[in-house]
Amino acid sequence: MVYNVSDAQQPVRDMMKEIGPKLEEMGRVHDRQPDAFAHDIFQFIAGKGLVGYTMPKELGGGGRTGLEYATLIEEIAYYDAPSSLLAAVSQLACDPIIHHANDEQKKKYIPPSASGKWIPAFALTEPNAGSDAANQSTVATVDGDHFVINGEKIFIMHGDVCDFAVVFCKIQEGDSRDKVSAILVPGDAPGFKKATLMQKMGMKYATTGRLWFSNVRVPKSNLMGEVGKGFKYAMQTLDGARIGIAAQSTGMARRALDESIKYAKTRQAFGAPIAKLQAIQWMIADMATKVAAASLMTYKAAQLQDAGTKFGLEAAQAKLFASEAANFCCDRAMQIHGGYGYIGEFSMIEKLYRDQRVSEIYEGTSEVQRLVIAANYLRG
Ligand SMILES: Cc1cc2nc3c(=O)[nH]c(=O)nc-3n(C[C@H](O)[C@H](O)[C@H](O)COP(=O)(O)OP(=O)(O)OC[C@H]3O[C@@H](n4cnc5c(N)ncnc54)[C@H](O)[C@@H]3O)c2cc1C
Repeated sequence: MVYNVSDAQQPVRDMMKEIGPKLEEMGRVHDRQPDAFAHDIFQFIAGKGLVGYTMPKELGGGGRTGLEYATLIEEIAYYDAPSSLLAAVSQLACDPIIHHANDEQKKKYIPPSASGKWIPAFALTEPNAGSDAANQSTVATVDGDHFVINGEKIFIMHGDVCDFAVVFCKIQEGDSRDKVSAILVPGDAPGFKKATLMQKMGMKYATTGRLWFSNVRVPKSNLMGEVGKGFKYAMQTLDGARIGIAAQSTGMARRALDESIKYAKTRQAFGAPIAKLQAIQWMIADMATKVAAASLMTYKAAQLQDAGTKFGLEAAQAKLFASEAANFCCDRAMQIHGGYGYIGEFSMIEKLYRDQRVSEIYEGTSEVQRLVIAANYLRG
């Protein structure tokens, strides 16, 4: 069951009914291979206009609303969660450019990102700056008309294959070091090294990278927005991106529920389908209720974003609730499937379980969402 709150959502779901099974099949094949970026899936979804779905039309994007985007990500994740990341990461990385870069930078970076020609990355996290993201060690030293960047980033989605990265770092001029700023760094800049992080638990073919900057020289004109405003830009981006993770989580939770219902009706134990057992019915009831709540919280946050009102609190609540609901639903789905859930050759539950887990970690952990929510309530 889906919980449309607008007529705009059903066409997105109908479109995904057409292409979702193909994504699911492609994803299953990639999942069994060593971690590597799924260029074929990325190009397939880019060709359907899904990588630039929310980017402005005048810059080659689809100009879609936040609610349509949330529905899209939910639906892709229903079929194949890593494919939903392949669609989402370019929009995450381009969001600060769309909102804060100058026209020249927008014209240079957005059209090739919207079409899937270029793969962008959003590089905030460092080995010692995760939840404490303001604690940046990467530094851009001013040298005439150039910045010289030194430092390291970790856990960067698509960073290993990126054509450019929005790099958050501090700017050093003489003895003074400014607060965090954002600089656009081409992927082929000399001294910019990238690696794929291996043995990732799930989401394997939407790869995660480690980046090193060793005396990377970029023109000062690559500064994005104002000096010292980078942390603010990053946090604004993450507010919106959290709705995407809530939507992704809702899609995975809904799939876990649907698979469980299907299985419980056919699997026989003690002479009857296990769906007749009250223990199983209660699990289904709890899963279904969480899917309903996660859906509605996610759409509410997206609608607030579309209305141009404050949505940070609702986005954090939706992300927290939906990611924990997805964890619950994937866990219950495995319980309902028994051994046939745990062994990947029998069902998709084993993959879903692995793909889900990161949703409680990235774009701010569940603990960080709770900090954000509490701060909102305690402020007034
Ligand atoms: C697959 C993947 C993809 C990612 N993609 C990107 C990306 O594209 N770009 C990017 O910049 N980053 C990305 N990240 C980084 C991600 O946002 C961080 O992993 C996350 O913010 C947590 O940081 P950390 O891993 O350093 O954990 P830590 O910050 O070290 O946290 C460890 C534990 O301590 C808890 N904790 C920390 N501080 C507090 C506190 N004040 N109160 C309560 N609990 C606290 C955390 O909740 C967690 O449980 C990605 C991560 C992963 C795993």
